[in-house]
Amino acid sequence: MLGKCSAAWNSRLKLYAQEGRFFQALQLYCQMQLSGVPPDGFTFPFAIKSCAALQLPKTGEQLHSCVIRIGCGAELFVRTALIAMYARFSRIRDAREVFDEMPRRQNLVSWNALIAGYNLNKQPLEALVLFRQMHVLGIEFNSITMLGLVPACARLQDLETGRCLHGINIKNGADLDESVANCFITMYARCGDMHDARRLFDALPEKNIITWNALISGYSQNGHADDVLRLYREMEKVGAEADAVSLVCILSACASLGAQSIGRGIHEHVIQKGFQFNVFLMNAFINMYARCGNLELALKLFDEMPQKNIVSWTAIINGYGMHGLGDMAVDLFDRMIASGIQADSIAFVSVLSACSHAGLVDKAWDYLKCMKKNHGLEPRLEHYACMVDVLGRAGQINEARNLIDAMPMKPDGAVWGALLGACKIHRNVEIAEIAAANVFQLEPTNVGYYVLLSNIYAGLRNYEGMATVRCMMRERGLRKPPGCSYIELQQRVHIFLAGDRSHPQAEAIYKMLDRLEELLKEAGYVADMSEALYDDKDSEYEMLAVHSERLAIAFGLMNSEPGTRVLVIKNLRVCIDCHTAIKFMSKVVEREIVVRDATRFHHFRNGDCSCKDFW
Ligand code: ZN
Ligand code: ZN
Repeated sequence: MLGKCSAAWNSRLKLYAQEGRFFQALQLYCQMQLSGVPPDGFTFPFAIKSCAALQLPKTGEQLHSCVIRIGCGAELFVRTALIAMYARFSRIRDAREVFDEMPRRQNLVSWNALIAGYNLNKQPLEALVLFRQMHVLGIEFNSITMLGLVPACARLQDLETGRCLHGINIKNGADLDESVANCFITMYARCGDMHDARRLFDALPEKNIITWNALISGYSQNGHADDVLRLYREMEKVGAEADAVSLVCILSACASLGAQSIGRGIHEHVIQKGFQFNVFLMNAFINMYARCGNLELALKLFDEMPQKNIVSWTAIINGYGMHGLGDMAVDLFDRMIASGIQADSIAFVSVLSACSHAGLVDKAWDYLKCMKKNHGLEPRLEHYACMVDVLGRAGQINEARNLIDAMPMKPDGAVWGALLGACKIHRNVEIAEIAAANVFQLEPTNVGYYVLLSNIYAGLRNYEGMATVRCMMRERGLRKPPGCSYIELQQRVHIFLAGDRSHPQAEAIYKMLDRLEELLKEAGYVADMSEALYDDKDSEYEMLAVHSERLAIAFGLMNSEPGTRVLVIKNLRVCIDCHTAIKFMSKVVEREIVVRDATRFHHFRNGDCSCKDFW
């Protein structure tokens, strides 16, 4: 027994709380009261902290009234603990009240608690305002203050203030604490400034896994998949062990670049380490295999998962959808519902777009209708965009237009864009012009839509229309983004741009393409340059440049075993000419060529494509 002296109880209580044994701490607090030992200003902070950690708001309130009754409400550490506790309970107003009532609130610890509280409660602006007040009052900050403030800037994507804080931190001579440095890296990354994120990273003498992850997630969120893989190689070189957080980013990079063998290498490593039961990691593997065109393995992993969550189901449904295997995707979706998993908004987007790639109009209508009725989910813009896409692709352009008119909210660029895409497939220039007028108003800088309209005109040999689109693009200073293709070979990703001659094997690649071209022509291929857009920078027709996917495919054919499959990832939609050419290629070289473009997978086999020319 601890006797009647509160100091002994308090030190035990402190020990428990510091060791994270919060339940025992609260138990001890109760025993203390039962033993008739009065709690004091050294008891409460730890009891309150434990209560906050265990998320027990009722007990927390009781402790608060106890504090007032006993009369140690004025004590700084007790108040600070209460501020942190209310912040943890998402009751930031109560936290603020405790702070405002403090007679001696000008203490750094309590300011820090409230700043951290605002950040925790997603009120980053309040955190920054508080810091300014602190500054005016001449209160010095420390690294804990920064830990609350820097994430606030990241949340606001306020690079200027973030940079300012970095400056103040350096000027203050504060040694850049490891965790503060990690926060700054994350802030730069969240604000899209990967250059400064990298600079800070390089300047750090010691890098822990959180530092690596801050940079790796930064590259990942900013869509720099090749930098993610480069950083992963650096990690391996210096012997830094990737954890689940970094691996999820790396696998997502593999997925976007089609780097299946790198992903597979990680998979083997993970199995060795015994991490294969981590649901997040398994979902990332399913996504990676599916997006690298290996549905069989994705499904095998999915089936073997002992516990599947909504993300696992969505990943596999998405995979089948992207491959145009809508029936399978629909089947999986229905199985998911039957297994008792509550579908969310994202899962509906996946299944609706799967319906679209497979032309399952009735099924899509059913899903859209049952979203609200059976699942309590209000269809959002992205669901309407999918439905417009489903109808449009299936040739029901007027129905698609009617749906847009009947939508309960104002359609956005994606909804009109879906209609525009459908008009391209079905060569409906009248509706295309209406859709384009709307889309250009809503998303004036989205180049893809201009290219789409131009291609619609091109298909109808409407050169005047093409010239108008070109004019609009020039006026708005827009250029067609460069086409770019990836292919992985022996755990290395090779990147090709249109007309690229920088690859070490460039000469051989172009020779190969010339030879292929002859074979294609013999087989009946006729070039269709209608979709080529005039490129005003180089004053030459873009048609003169060889599209990136052809370079990647030629490279792939040259460097792989006969009979094996070639997988190429393309950042934009495949153009009509390349699509036709690749169909012929698959026939003359007797190889399966798989291309994942911006919309879906194309499996070219024996002169045909799995998309049946609807993409
Ligand atoms: Zn092309
Ligand atoms: Zn296709």
